[in-house]
This record gives sequence, structure tokens and C-alpha cells, in this order.
Amino acid sequence: SVSLALFTRDLRVHDNPMLHTAADAADHVIPLFVLDDAILRTGFPSPNRAAFLVDCLTDLDATLRELGARLIVRRGDPVTEVLDLVTHHAITDVHLSGDVSRYARQRQRRLGDALDEHGARLHLHDDVITAVAPGAVTPTGNRDHFAVFTPYLRRWTELPKRTPLPPPHRLRLPPRVTAHALPDPGAISRGSTAPDLPGGGETTGRDLLGTWLRDDVTGYADGHDDLAGDRTSRLSPHLHFGTVSATEAAHRAGRSAGAREFVSQLAWRDFHHQVLAARPACSTHDYRSRGDRWRHAPDELRAWQEGRTGYPVVDAGMRQLLREGWMHNRARLITASFLTKTLYLDWREGARHFLRHLTDGDIANNQLNWQWVAGTGTDTRPNRVLNPLRQADRYDPRGDYVRRYLPELRDIPGPEVHRPWTLPDHQRRELDYPDPIVDLAEGRERFLAARG
Ligand code: FAD
Repeated sequence: SVSLALFTRDLRVHDNPMLHTAADAADHVIPLFVLDDAILRTGFPSPNRAAFLVDCLTDLDATLRELGARLIVRRGDPVTEVLDLVTHHAITDVHLSGDVSRYARQRQRRLGDALDEHGARLHLHDDVITAVAPGAVTPTGNRDHFAVFTPYLRRWTELPKRTPLPPPHRLRLPPRVTAHALPDPGAISRGSTAPDLPGGGETTGRDLLGTWLRDDVTGYADGHDDLAGDRTSRLSPHLHFGTVSATEAAHRAGRSAGAREFVSQLAWRDFHHQVLAARPACSTHDYRSRGDRWRHAPDELRAWQEGRTGYPVVDAGMRQLLREGWMHNRARLITASFLTKTLYLDWREGARHFLRHLTDGDIANNQLNWQWVAGTGTDTRPNRVLNPLRQADRYDPRGDYVRRYLPELRDIPGPEVHRPWTLPDHQRRELDYPDPIVDLAEGRERFLAARG
């Protein structure tokens, strides 16, 4: 018998129930990844994510070879490619990790129907991409999802989790499977990548997870908001592409205060996935409409995108994004609040720019975090406005984060770097750095007035 393991964003052999079941259930297994033309056409795989994805596929292929098989890569429509293999190799069972975006779910349905017609079965594994399957934690009453994080976290924490699985022992490919060569990033997405982009792949992800859990997680409770300290795991691209399992990360984290805080971040990830699963339209529409009539100000949007708003902590975050394809969570909060509240520009503009650059760019996490900050999502205090100067004083008290990402301000010592407009005139004039594009108090009042 032959089964097919269809990889998507679960690009690992450790703790992968999708692969494990496919391998256990049949004599031969075809590990397949399809570069989906429909997704490629949308431009979603930006250069940063394309480069990371190719690292993941290359590493997965090498690991599968050690286990006796290899990764079969094809390009086109996944349903057509799967049916082609099903017919040629008499495949009876196809295994796939369940995903939550509107497109992913529609593709799952299409694949299930097509397989039915060909006498084969689709098995969906809903606990691979998230630690807890969307829908596994259900609220009381007749609601279909949790809209508030704290009660969700309580239930999420109580729920028994699976024990992480080892990699399958051995995989056997059926004879004569045809495949395309592994792609190079340029075949997926054109354009240059961020200069300091991290490398992808399960091997790298597991090393990062191991080091994080051994050396750093205990300091997470105190350190995770420290912008310059950079004391978060940086596991997000690996969690997005599934080279690290959220279940395994939570299982191995331990019981320190830092570990508990870290695990609750993994629950945030699951929380947003269950919201998107229940409300797929939230990737583009307000989860809770506040009647916003967002301003249209292309110059201000561009200044924000380029990190030239005149507020150093905002600009440092935006430049970190361009340099690393990643941004510290505290900076994401500050920059997103600045765009949607201080400038009162549409959260979709910000979300689009983030998705273009973030290696961890993820429909559930990105769109719903943007909505959370914009006050159109699940935040219970939708009208709070973060003051970037107060945020800077608190989370970058020495100004080191700003100096790291804004070379033009590198020579301003200490926290003064957060307020270059207070420098003596002659010094101010020498800086190639703009004046603030908005007055913070005016921006805040404009927003609060608009929200009524
Ligand atoms: P850690 O602090 O080490 O946390 C561990 C893991 O928990 C992360 O890797 C991530 O998977 C998860 N996590 C942490 N915080 C959140 C959160 N608020 N929501 C959901 N999951 C979380 N995260 C993404 O993975 N993809 C995105 O596209 C994304 N866009 C965001 C946009 C905005 C406006 C904001 C405010 C946040 C966004 N986040 C996104 C959430 C968060 O900022 C990142 O997950 C985190 O900064 C990644 O760094 P890390 O791996 O070091 O996180």
C-alpha cells in the first residue's frame, strides 16, 4: 500500500503526526511538497519567506534521505499534482495538516472532494500546526470560538496535550516517482532579501529551540519586553513554517516563570488561529467594526514604512524589519499603534507592509495582532493609544535599541536619542534625520474624536 504525506507549513520530521501516521499506515510513502501556483500568483511568498522556505525544503529533503526517502517537490495546483500521484501509484490515503486560512480551508475541501471521486481518502491532522487544534478548546454556551484571550488561556492550559513524537524510523518511496528539482528562491519570488535574514530549516530550528530552552527561557518573564536586550526566542519563522513544533516547544519548556510566560505566548498563537478558523473573513475585514473612516495619507504611510517618522523608537522598529525580516514584539506594538492610532491609517496598510517583510509573516498572527492593536480585534481596551516616547523610556531606557538600527543617530548618547528635536540647533541640523511628522497629542485626539 502507498500513502502520501502532503507537507505544507509543517516542514519537519520530529513531532509530525501527519508524516508519522502516513508512514505507519502504509508500506510506501510519498513525501510531497507542492509549490502552489495560486499562492505564488498572490505574491504572498515574499523574497524573505521564499529564501527561508527553500532552506526548509532543502533541509527536509536531506533528512528524508537519511530516513530512506526524499522530498518530492512539484509545482502547480496541489489538487492536480496529488491526483496525478494518486493515479500513478495507486495511493489510498493522503495525509495533510489542517490549516485555518480561508484559502487553505477551501483547498482542503477541494482536495477531499477530488480524492473521494478517485476512491482515496484525505486524513486531516488538526494538531500539527498549532499545539491545540482550533476548535478543541470551546467556550460554554453557543459561541463557536473564544473572543477574549484570558479565559482561552485558562482552558488551553488545562487541556491535555499530546506527547511529542519522534521522527519515523524509516521511510520507503515507491519506485519511479517523478519530481522536479528543489526550487531556488528566485523561482518563487523576485527581489532582494533582508541583509540579516536568518536561515531556515528543521536542523537550524531545533538547534535554536535547544539553546533557547537550555540557556535563555528562564529569563523570558523579565526580559521579553527589553528592546535592546533582544531576549525573546526568535522562533517565530520556525513556528510559522513548522520546522519547530509548538507542541514540542511547550512540552520541553519546563516550569520556570520564564517558561510559563513563553508557553502562554504559544497559546496566543493558538488563540489567533482559532479566531481565524471561526472568522476567516478577518484576514481582510474588521473582527469588530468601530466605524472607522481611516485617513488616506500616502506620504505618512511611506515615512512609516521607511522608518522616517521622526520618532526614533518607531523608526528603529521599522528599520529592524527591513534589515532582519523580523521585528521585536514590543516594537511591533509601538509601530502598529503609531500607524493605526497616532496617524489613524488603515491597519490593512500596515499588515500588508509587515507581510511583505516578515519572515514569520502569518495570516492568523499578523492580521489578528494588527486588529488587536488597531482596536478592531479582540483587545478589551480598543481605544488605548501607546505613547512612543513613554514606551521608549520604559523599554529602551538607554537608547541602545535605537542606536543599533538608526546609524544617523549613533553618536547621540543615552536616552536623549529618543528626542533628537531637543538637541541644540547646530547639532540638530547636522543630523540626516527628519522632524516628527505628527504631533503625538494631536494624533491621539484626532483618533479619540474619530472613535467617538
Ligand atoms: P517569543 O516572544 O519568543 O514568543 C514565542 C512564540 O510565541 C513566537 O515565536 C510566536 O509564535 C508566539 N507569539 C508570541 N507573541 C505572539 C502574539 N502576540 N501573537 C501570536 N503569537 C505570538 N507573529 C507571527 O508569528 N507572525 C506575524 O506575522 C506576526 N505579526 C504581528 C504583527 C503585529 C502588529 C504584532 C503586534 C505582533 C505580531 N506577531 C506576529 C506576534 C509577535 O510579535 C511575534 O510572534 C514575536 O515577536 C516573534 O518573536 P519571537 O519568536 O522571538 O517571540
